[in-house]
Amino acid sequence: VGVDWYLPSTPPPPGEAKGAAGALPPARPAAGGSAAGPPATPEGEAPGPGAKVPAPSLAEAARLAASATTLDELRESLLACRACPLCAGATNLVFGTGDPKARLLFVGEGPGEEEDRQGEPFVGRAGKLLDRWIARLGLARGDVYIANVVKCRPPANRAPSPEEAAACLPWLRAQVRILRPEVVCTLGNTPLRHFLGVAEGITRARGKWLEHEGIAVLPTYHPAYILRNARAEGEVFADFDLLRARLGL
Ligand code: SF4
Repeated sequence: VGVDWYLPSTPPPPGEAKGAAGALPPARPAAGGSAAGPPATPEGEAPGPGAKVPAPSLAEAARLAASATTLDELRESLLACRACPLCAGATNLVFGTGDPKARLLFVGEGPGEEEDRQGEPFVGRAGKLLDRWIARLGLARGDVYIANVVKCRPPANRAPSPEEAAACLPWLRAQVRILRPEVVCTLGNTPLRHFLGVAEGITRARGKWLEHEGIAVLPTYHPAYILRNARAEGEVFADFDLLRARLGL
């Protein structure tokens, strides 16, 4: 994918890793890199061939993601992730939040400014709108699980690059495997392209059931898009009617 997995040889002590919010350990390197992590170029590109980066540990990171059996275990491994340049600009790693036994998992794009600050997904204006959509199902945020394709904030709220999304995908796949929800609802183009591998845009793909490893998946618009295009919210309501019927709510 053009991005090597990178994990420091010594993971942070468990005591330094914060709780469910997924805040980063103090050892996370600042932008510009350090002995504990690769430098990011000003353009946010992966370190070049001449950069002093320890041996790529793609296999090790993939093994950690694949072998985790609980969300806590997965979070602990994820805290050490330096697999793409996004870690250099992130204040907090945003792991995900909600009920580990949730029947419904939402998958968004990545943390924005407020999410990066708080270490929680969907806590800004888009998050409040998502909460209202969840309420249409007769549920609260704590009844579902919410995660993103990338766990570190892309600069200036841009979409993650294909390389960044690919680097982070094993962690999301592991979350889905551990959570094993009945239904996944993806929000916007990023999870549609990078998690589901669907090339057509969200405008055409939304509202049609797909499948991921035996789990029903329904793509719909991202709430941030609806904040800019309120007239499309009726289509989201129709998609949430499908979710409600599928879950028997
Ligand atoms: S965005 Fe994902 S892959 Fe990149 S450093 Fe953060 S956790 Fe690792």
